[in-house]
Amino acid sequence: MKIIVIGGGASGIVASIFAKRDNNEVVVLEKNSKCLKKLLITGNGKCNYFNDDFSFEHYYSDSTDKLSNIITSDSKKKILDFLSSIGVVPRIKNGYYYPNSNQAYSVHNSLLKEASLRGVDVRNDVKVLNIVKKNDSFLVSTNNGDYICDKVIISTGGKSYPKTGSDGDGYLFGKSLGHKIVPVVPSLVGLVSNDKFIKSLSGVRCDVCVSLGSKSEIGEVQFTDYGLSGICIFNLSNIASRLGNCSVNINFLYNFVDDYNDFCKLFDKVNNSVLNRSIGELLEGYLNYNIVNVILKKCDIDFSCSWNDLGNKKKLLFDNLISFNVDIVGTRGFDVAQVSLGGISLDDINVSTFESKIVPGLYFTGEVMDVTGDCGGYNLGFAFLSGIIAGEAVGDTCD
Ligand SMILES: Cc1cc2nc3c(=O)[nH]c(=O)nc-3n(C[C@H](O)[C@H](O)[C@H](O)COP(=O)(O)OP(=O)(O)OC[C@H]3O[C@@H](n4cnc5c(N)ncnc54)[C@H](O)[C@@H]3O)c2cc1C
Repeated sequence: MKIIVIGGGASGIVASIFAKRDNNEVVVLEKNSKCLKKLLITGNGKCNYFNDDFSFEHYYSDSTDKLSNIITSDSKKKILDFLSSIGVVPRIKNGYYYPNSNQAYSVHNSLLKEASLRGVDVRNDVKVLNIVKKNDSFLVSTNNGDYICDKVIISTGGKSYPKTGSDGDGYLFGKSLGHKIVPVVPSLVGLVSNDKFIKSLSGVRCDVCVSLGSKSEIGEVQFTDYGLSGICIFNLSNIASRLGNCSVNINFLYNFVDDYNDFCKLFDKVNNSVLNRSIGELLEGYLNYNIVNVILKKCDIDFSCSWNDLGNKKKLLFDNLISFNVDIVGTRGFDVAQVSLGGISLDDINVSTFESKIVPGLYFTGEVMDVTGDCGGYNLGFAFLSGIIAGEAVGDTCD
């Protein structure tokens, strides 16, 4: 039995490890000169590879109903037991898992060593060009000759950060073999806005509660020359990327006031205790100076105006402080996006093995499928989990 894994990324290497049995041959074909190029840049080189809160609610797919059958109560143990068995020692910070070395290289080296110990044949600089099913076998054409095999695992990733090797080939292979593709868009990425107030805040960072529709995130927003960035914005991009034009709301005082009454009470009190200060100066106690200026300008309030002289502008000021509206015109592109949203539809995949329902013997792992996680270790978590499940399933057919 010969198994070919296309793509030596996180999910492909894990799949190859689990697929290998004494009596079979497992070959990984990787188009780069080295495997796991993307893994090395994850988490700013520190590799946030998992999250303690590993639940299906952190994932997006057109087939939402299938996610709870994939991310189950067993998933966490499966992933962590495997990583521990290959020598990855975790350091857990607020639920986010990193290798204790703080280096993605530790995870990279552990995975490649395990593949080598198991006898997986990794071939770099081999770009797969086409896959054809012929009777019970597959013909895999590459830039370096043809391969014939019994099973194929497509682990080519999505099309984000194409310089790491994942540039969308897997979607083409899946489509040519009859699979439905859920439209693919950049995700976990910054949001673009033409709002002049936002642009004037470029460089400022602030802890806020930011919402898009019914989804809210608390964390640091970074204002940039193109719009908004930061982990909480990335998480909202999983929704924004499908919407195109939309608007997000920023609550700058989420940890101080709940409603207008609270707001008036708070500033009555502050105004009485901190004497001879303008509204601008009082707000500076809570917020970055540039944000204070932008909000006052938007409300047409003079920085030097006193709290008591605001009159009916108090309500306008409150509205802008707790629900600052930013019009979004789209997301940034695939070149800077951490992941791709969309991909091979789960409708065409048996999610307990990740085998295609259309082409028997063909399997998928990782980002090429229509499963996208939040920031925080969820995408590598899914890459590992799908690699384990698909690898085990293919390997079992060889026993
Ligand atoms: C900057 C950045 C930071 C990130 N940080 C995190 C993080 O901290 N935590 C987290 O969970 N996720 C993070 N991610 C996302 C995570 O890296 C990916 O979701 C994950 O690597 C997907 O694994 P994969 O195996 O599906 O694909 P990939 O890791 O992309 O691997 C696909 C492999 O297939 C190869 N390939 C593609 N086409 C072919 C072909 N035709 N022939 C041969 N080989 C081919 C590619 O060269 C590549 O090596 C980050 C992503 C980026 C870009």
